[in-house]
Amino acid sequence: MALPPADLSAERAAPSRLRATFHRWVDSQAVARDESDNERVDWLRVIPFVCMHVACIGVVWVGWSATALVVAAALYAVRMFAITAFYHRCFSHRAFRTSRAVQFVFALVGAAAAQRGPLWWAAHHRHHHAHADGESDVHSPRRGFWWSHLGWFLTSGNFATRRERIPDLARFPELRFLDRYDALVPVVLAAGLYGLGELLERTAPELNATGPQLLVWGFFISTVVLYHMTFTVNSLAHRFGTRRFATNDDSRNNWVIAIATLGEGWHNNHHAFPGSARQGLRWWEIDVTWYVLRLFAALGIVWGVRPAPARAHRSE
Ligand SMILES: [Zn+2]
Ligand SMILES: [Zn+2]
Repeated sequence: MALPPADLSAERAAPSRLRATFHRWVDSQAVARDESDNERVDWLRVIPFVCMHVACIGVVWVGWSATALVVAAALYAVRMFAITAFYHRCFSHRAFRTSRAVQFVFALVGAAAAQRGPLWWAAHHRHHHAHADGESDVHSPRRGFWWSHLGWFLTSGNFATRRERIPDLARFPELRFLDRYDALVPVVLAAGLYGLGELLERTAPELNATGPQLLVWGFFISTVVLYHMTFTVNSLAHRFGTRRFATNDDSRNNWVIAIATLGEGWHNNHHAFPGSARQGLRWWEIDVTWYVLRLFAALGIVWGVRPAPARAHRSE
């Protein structure tokens, strides 16, 4: 006896959904923005993100070495800088200018942080500034800490790049490529770290590094710490800290987050003057990204670096 049509379609739906998910892990554009299911976590789609966390447990087996710690710390710092200086201050806010080659190099380093592509990141961030802590803000902590920290980007409605927000960036095919195949650079980094560890084990055994050890420390642990430090800017820096400027949102200045994120914790300053490449406005507001950008400007790597307006330094 033939099954009723509804049962047949249900049988077909499960494997094809799985296939579509695999496809989307590799090609982020294999999904159209799903407005109908905006708020639901797409658990199949976020398996790689969950696995990044689970893989950190591997530290129990691989142990540690000074080499692994140095590699993890260096990759944290370099990728955090690429996120704060380029994904954020350059791509999202156009706070300075640079050559197309430098733009690509730092887009590549930023992509290695596995926070999706530069266009996706900048488009959602521009949306955040346009609606900060309002009804349409996708990651306001007014909807709860976990929603603002990570819930929002796990939902099916927020996987697609908001193309209408980034026409200036979408002009560059190399950025579109990184955005579309956003898993590629992290996978290459992970494989490279494993290979480096294997090489060191053979050529410099006194360093006590192994392939699995560099993979766990340099990729999984470093990236997961980098994740959560970046996410605190959306969650904690809209909740805890001081407000120097009466912005139309809940943004705060928080020195702990500022240290961990190379200057992004001066978030109330940033919401008050989003076009400024400088976020730490007082001498004691440590903003490592700003110091490095000044060095880059002195070396001619970047130019047109926009400082905060004079009134930013006057107001209290
Ligand atoms: Zn904000
Ligand atoms: Zn911003």
